[in-house]
Amino acid sequence: MADASRPLHLSTRAITAGRPAPGPDVPLNPPLVLASTYGSFGEMEYGRYANPTWSAFEEALGALEGGRCVSFASGMAAIGAVLDLVPVGGLVVAPRHSYTGTVMRLRQLEERGAVRVAWVDVTDARQVVHAAEGAALVWLESPTNPALELADVPAVVRGAHAAGALVAVDNTFATPVLQRPVEHGADLVVHAVTKYLGGHSDLLMGAVVTPDEDLAARVTAQRSLHGAVPSPFEAFLALRGMRTLAVRVERAQASAQRLVRRLEGHAGVVEVRYPGFGGIVSVVLPDAAAADALVHGVRLWIAATSLGGVESTLERRRRWAAEAPTIPEGLVRLSVGLEDPDDLWADLAQALA
Ligand SMILES: *Cc1c(COP(=O)(O)O)cnc(C)c1O
Repeated sequence: MADASRPLHLSTRAITAGRPAPGPDVPLNPPLVLASTYGSFGEMEYGRYANPTWSAFEEALGALEGGRCVSFASGMAAIGAVLDLVPVGGLVVAPRHSYTGTVMRLRQLEERGAVRVAWVDVTDARQVVHAAEGAALVWLESPTNPALELADVPAVVRGAHAAGALVAVDNTFATPVLQRPVEHGADLVVHAVTKYLGGHSDLLMGAVVTPDEDLAARVTAQRSLHGAVPSPFEAFLALRGMRTLAVRVERAQASAQRLVRRLEGHAGVVEVRYPGFGGIVSVVLPDAAAADALVHGVRLWIAATSLGGVESTLERRRRWAAEAPTIPEGLVRLSVGLEDPDDLWADLAQALA
């Protein structure tokens, strides 16, 4: 028997959370429930408010991050719901190198006067805390996509809270396996479930996790009224993917660390950006042409946007007009998958040659 007083490790919780209590004839995992409406007078009522398959996924991710989870149709829908917590004209502090979608959404809100934005260097905790004076929300992303910069989450949380601001952390890159912002006092954690949590490049979904019941209720109301709800099928797939999250992240990280050592010794590589953990590596090549040659020269790696799947993918980020001009033209973001690391290196080496 497990000692009930000792909390289960994360990799165990990834298996046990959100499943029915085992029993005769009980399916081991929650079944997919497709329903636009439910018989009245219960808890569910309507498919835009609640779904048992969402609930199973939410229970599991909530157990991993440490809070109440609210799932959304995409990472951007989850980000939008958190930004909607900011009162009209309120100040948002955000990293200059946030995910492009986050930057575009904040600029859009800024242009129509809905919010004010203070753009910061997220690696400089003093600058972030200074900007938090009078702010409604401090947005963090750590590591950032694709610059792979790190924020000092505990220091920023302390300073932002002293200034009366909420702190939200986009935890897509680290996943709860490697970083749990709620443990450092963050008010809200945001995920593109699309990436590592789903893990198989076959779904789009997002999530917000918060230890605060009032914030959870406000984010849930936003989901119901905005209607950016996940499909039950995608919630089912996401939970299935999340069962193996810990082993996938550990394997991707181990392979990424091996590739980083080899890339750092390669004459054609100008710079390797790697925060020391996780499965994402950014390599800087001399220019856009060299980067494009790598992207077109690989055979095993797949040229594709997105990341965090079982398959290794790569992308020159500046091919997107929306990517920050401070990201080098020759930067290629590698999402290290679960193939054998020697095969991954051999393919990179032949494409770099
Ligand atoms: C992909 C991504 C998002 C957006 O998620 P979608 O599911 O594509 O909407 C947000 N933040 C980060 C860090 C991402 O990588």
